[in-house]
Amino acid sequence: MTAPAPEIETLEDAARRARRDAPYLEVQEVGKQFGSFVALRRVNLEIRSGEFVTFLGPSGCGKTTLLRGIAGLDPPTTGRIMQGGRDITHLPPAERDFGIVFQSYALFPNLTVAENIAYGLRGAAWPKARRRERVAELLSIVGLADQAPKYPAQLSGGQQQRVALARALANEPGLLLLDEPLSALDAIVRQHLRQEIRSLQQRLGVTTIMVTHDQEEALGVSDRIVVMSRGRIEQVGTPAEIYDNPASPFVAGFVGHSSRIEAVVDTPPGIIIASGMKLVAEATRPLLYGARVTCFIRPEHVRLARLAEAPEGALSAVVTGLEYLGPVVRLSLEAGPLRLLAAVSPGEFAALEAAPGAAFAVTLPPEHLMVFVEDV
Ligand code: ATP
Repeated sequence: MTAPAPEIETLEDAARRARRDAPYLEVQEVGKQFGSFVALRRVNLEIRSGEFVTFLGPSGCGKTTLLRGIAGLDPPTTGRIMQGGRDITHLPPAERDFGIVFQSYALFPNLTVAENIAYGLRGAAWPKARRRERVAELLSIVGLADQAPKYPAQLSGGQQQRVALARALANEPGLLLLDEPLSALDAIVRQHLRQEIRSLQQRLGVTTIMVTHDQEEALGVSDRIVVMSRGRIEQVGTPAEIYDNPASPFVAGFVGHSSRIEAVVDTPPGIIIASGMKLVAEATRPLLYGARVTCFIRPEHVRLARLAEAPEGALSAVVTGLEYLGPVVRLSLEAGPLRLLAAVSPGEFAALEAAPGAAFAVTLPPEHLMVFVEDV
């Protein structure tokens, strides 16, 4: 028996592989100043072809500025942006390959739905019949096949945003940019449309960047999230990485609910003292006695028990607030000066007979305390 011949990669294959593995979009050392105000500081980011990436952060953190830089609407002051291997840093928007959807829909009020979508399909490449076909295809993709002759004012907000999406996708751009596309819509439409956008994006395979300040939205639809604060990137990661392993106190506090606990490292190793209370935090084992740490714990990791069944090391805490959220009940608790959030299932809630003023034994599992050492 002869061994199979080893597969030899041709130069052409190698070049194709290099192109496939190279990031589609590269943001290199990008900075942006408005007068003396620094809106972006040395931002570096790589986005692969077909990824859905969200820029997430509080108001004013620079996410729209970064998106506008990528679109060429407001080029960066310093740094470089590459798309598909081409330096686009200073190209005008018209010479770039992207479609964009704004929060405000930005449809032409005097054009019908079909005319709005057809707007960018001009020139020799789009003879009338092909243009009509493409518009029909786009209308069906966004579920508006029966709305073609209407004017934007005759549509709901969600429908208008679907038109804007169809218009942005009309030319089959390599990059789809979404600037808070859902924030003007009510909660139910918003949730529905974000899933539609995600499945459409996956079907078309178009590389997409969405700006949002809504963390649930970012966690729900993204391949990766870029968390920004004060003009910088704090962390880039999958939703699970961002939620389970936040890279900084800012990310831990901004993404998802959590309780923040300031503490000092004590002895023996692994013990910390927070507001006079002793807690176990495995992650502090290597730290020096006296080091200051900031810890976070997610509500779903806080354990509650009746006082009579208190596990060793549990804190005594009083319920100060209740929020019934359907799948979970969120409890606000006070353990001395510590304020904690706990999330329990409705069944557990009923069994505990938790009510404002009731006292419980609270345990913070050491493996779930997210610990950050304060800069000295
Ligand atoms: P939001 O969610 O509120 O839109 P954002 O993270 O998108 O916030 P940007 O719009 O990127 O924030 O703005 C970042 C900072 O840059 C803000 O402090 C803003 O005031 C400032 N800024 C943005 N555009 C300009 C401009 N044209 N001139 C001066 N300052 C600007």
